[in-house]
Amino acid sequence: MELYKNVYRIQSLYGGRNLFQYFFNGQRRVLLDAGIAQTPEAAIFPYLEKLKVDPQQLDLAITTHSDVDHQGGNDAIKRIAPRAWLACGEADRELVEDPQTLFERRYDFLKKDYGMSLGALSAADAGKPRRMDATFAGGETIHLDDGWRLEVLHVPGHSHGHLAFYDRNHKAAFVGDAIHGRGCPKATGELAIPVTYYNVEVYLSTLRYFESLPIEVLYSGHWPVMRGEEIHDFIAESRQTVELFDRVVLAELGKPAASRSLQELVQAVAEAVGEWPPDSWTLAMFPMKGHLDRLEANGRIRRVDGARPVRWQKA
Ligand SMILES: [Zn+2]
Repeated sequence: MELYKNVYRIQSLYGGRNLFQYFFNGQRRVLLDAGIAQTPEAAIFPYLEKLKVDPQQLDLAITTHSDVDHQGGNDAIKRIAPRAWLACGEADRELVEDPQTLFERRYDFLKKDYGMSLGALSAADAGKPRRMDATFAGGETIHLDDGWRLEVLHVPGHSHGHLAFYDRNHKAAFVGDAIHGRGCPKATGELAIPVTYYNVEVYLSTLRYFESLPIEVLYSGHWPVMRGEEIHDFIAESRQTVELFDRVVLAELGKPAASRSLQELVQAVAEAVGEWPPDSWTLAMFPMKGHLDRLEANGRIRRVDGARPVRWQKA
């Protein structure tokens, strides 16, 4: 669908969730996100053809952050549109370039010491390794056309190198998965999976940063379009979810002689939220680990000596 003049949203479904890419049709033609491995051929290029844009005319394809559903299509894009530059945030580069690195460093790093894992990576969705042609660190601008620029923002939290894009002419922000609310929804509205962020303080600072930007309309990787007060509410809900994690951990570890594993705390927060499908709960290990790291650094909790998987107790 056309969002406003020369800006388009490409939509498909992945695991019941909407998966959105954005296309800017200026003098320079820029695509935000590549979807999973199949998305370019199944959704992106057919959409461009409807707009009478030859894939060969694509200049830049930017991955907002390192996740299978945003980077998996990079190989197909480079195969079909070889002159397009691939780009992402510098801090995500090694993960975006190689699905195996993505799996080991982003998805599976809690297995050994904390006893939680997603299992195997879906190789069919993750695509093949592809080198980035350029990276962004935030603060750059992309010249789309006369008087029309995209500002590149570094908005870490969901991933370390997460990028968002700001069109000041329209006060429009394209934020990928940088803001998570209470979780990521299915296309039908109910929640599909938990929130995902890694470092709590960094995620909170990104939420504050978005509040400081004059945003009239917010476009994301999976959430519905939001305007005005809806944006404010979405950010507030994101912050309330952060606070809930801390409350649940301190309540659990505050019980007499209590100690808890990562898995037990994930279950406790999932029950407190009450809306994440049980088969998705494991994904809450990432933000939960971030909260445990922060509570430990602040001296509120500590690890039980020698326990494997690691267990925590009140300090
Ligand atoms: Zn996503």
